[in-house]
Amino acid sequence: MVTMCKNNSRESAYSGGFIPLQNCIDLIGLSPAIGYYSYTKRYAKLKAENMKKLVFKILRYSGLPFLFREIFQRNKVSILLFHDISRETALQTFNYLKQNYNILDLNDFIEASENKDYSKIPQKALIITFDDAHIRNYEILPVIKELKIPITIFSCASIINTNRHFWFMFKDESISTSQLKKESTKDRLEILSKVGFKQEKEFPNAQALQKKQIDEMKHFINIQSHTLFHPCLPKCSFDEAKEEIFKSKEILENEYGLNINAIAYPNGDYSDRDIQITKDSGYKCGITVDYGFNTHQTDVYKLKRLSVNDTDNIDELIVKASGMWAFFKTRNGRRQPYGYTKHTVN
Ligand SMILES: [Zn+2]
Repeated sequence: MVTMCKNNSRESAYSGGFIPLQNCIDLIGLSPAIGYYSYTKRYAKLKAENMKKLVFKILRYSGLPFLFREIFQRNKVSILLFHDISRETALQTFNYLKQNYNILDLNDFIEASENKDYSKIPQKALIITFDDAHIRNYEILPVIKELKIPITIFSCASIINTNRHFWFMFKDESISTSQLKKESTKDRLEILSKVGFKQEKEFPNAQALQKKQIDEMKHFINIQSHTLFHPCLPKCSFDEAKEEIFKSKEILENEYGLNINAIAYPNGDYSDRDIQITKDSGYKCGITVDYGFNTHQTDVYKLKRLSVNDTDNIDELIVKASGMWAFFKTRNGRRQPYGYTKHTVN
């Protein structure tokens, strides 16, 4: 859409006396200033990106990721978090991880925890997980088949196989996602409905995997629960949280023929109440985004994960997969914006 402004000063070549915004800018001589502003903004962004790349390259070759892997990760289980990566990134990423870690099936870890027998857990064990079941996850299926590695995708039972959208991906200038995460589920949905988003609304396109894709993927990929609609669980009432945790398991098992034993808490937010509901609903583990590695002492309903930010930069992947990035970030006084919440909505 072309933005227009009213031109009264001279005869307009455009119908109705309106000319495009760019022409208005030219008329009052603002073009060079705006051009310079957007150039410097682009330049600053590019500079920051290059700086970030340089930082990861220096960190990678500093040898620290190697030390983290060989010392801190050696006798622990790391769980990595991805969301939505391309086939090319998946191939590069999984090839690196396969060469440098022992990729472990989440089910094998759950079994070892249940039996308290960790003898089969290899050193530098790493579990690959994806949250949300984004529709592009289907593209990584050939990579999984080729590399023969186990991965787990956490899906929202009431968003998959529909054209419903993830509320946190809905963009409106008047609302901030981080602010919405602080609201109760009822208030969040009310605010969103005022700007045209409803969690049951069917949009023209799908954001999450469809049943046909899941039916094909489930033979190679472990698909587990990420609730129904991706709420912030501590911001749900007891009944809402119960429905989200319990019913998602039921739907995924009954309608998709899956065996659901794990849940990833949406946004990584959870409370004691949510853990209790998770246990009562029959899950065998719960996965957070709390920083850290897992051992046989880790509470299986508070498993820790490392986010690698869906990067296609191999230096960044190496640094983040080793855990050193999150290690320094969380010890830097920068608290994680998610995690354990003491208070829940009643
Ligand atoms: Zn999620």
